Amino acid sequence: MTPVAYVGGQFVPLAEARVSVLDRGFLFADGVYEVIPAYQGRPFGMREHLQRLARSLRELQIQNPHTDAEWTDLVARLMRENAPSAGATDLLVYLQVTRGAPERRAHPFPPGTPPTVIGMCHALPSPGESALRDGVGAITRPDIRWSRCDIKSIALLPNVLAAQAAREQNCNEVILHRDGRVTEGGSSNVFAVLGTSVVTPSKGPEILSGVTRDILLELLRAAKIPVQERRLTLTELRSAEEVWLTSSTREVLPVTRLDGEPVGSRKPGPLWKKAYALFQGAKQDAKRYG
Ligand code: PLP
Repeated sequence: MTPVAYVGGQFVPLAEARVSVLDRGFLFADGVYEVIPAYQGRPFGMREHLQRLARSLRELQIQNPHTDAEWTDLVARLMRENAPSAGATDLLVYLQVTRGAPERRAHPFPPGTPPTVIGMCHALPSPGESALRDGVGAITRPDIRWSRCDIKSIALLPNVLAAQAAREQNCNEVILHRDGRVTEGGSSNVFAVLGTSVVTPSKGPEILSGVTRDILLELLRAAKIPVQERRLTLTELRSAEEVWLTSSTREVLPVTRLDGEPVGSRKPGPLWKKAYALFQGAKQDAKRYG
């Protein structure tokens, strides 16, 4: 059983999947992507992920090659083809659309070039027992990315460098900041518990509007837990009782070490426990999030 990828309109063994060297994703990082988690074989937050994909494409003026129904079919087929090799029912589907492969390299948009669509699927990594029991470490770094981080672009070099810096410090994530404000993690959104409120940076061009972030905010509000979407300073983050990370692969993860210092009680906090339980409930709620 080998993993199967979707490329150029075909399903092929992942090891044989190829795109042209002229593909603008390869030459210019001229494309966008989505990562959709699936629990028990059911995509989670599909509508929100497809909305964000459509928005990212629109912002870069790349034609959306598929309707939502076609994307949904593609995701289902990728899961069907890859579930046996993944050996799991919790899966991660990766979709990428680039501005295609014209006949020669030139910076402006190539007229009449169809977008390249790529799809892959493998087992959804689990946060792991120790991460949930003890929390994870994070480090802080200046945010050196461009000023359109709301677009889920495949240009991820600063995020790659951040992930490597975290790994070298034995940490799960880098929390980025600009002019004293927390923006987000290298591949996650950031939440801080300050007093009785859960605070997360407001949406805008400095952060990716995480699907997990938005779902968690909805769950917290429905549970009458006070939340604030606002500017979060680095100083506030350092004095927070709890810090959490959210993403499609992390779900809601407690940070208990920040730059080597303990966060709050150094243990996953009581509000995180509530948030985590709410999120686990949402994973079962196929009607709203399926
Ligand atoms: N912010 C960045 C920069 C990301 O790359 C990601 C996910 O990869 C997120 C936030 C979280 O987004 P989501 O919850 O939709 O996975």
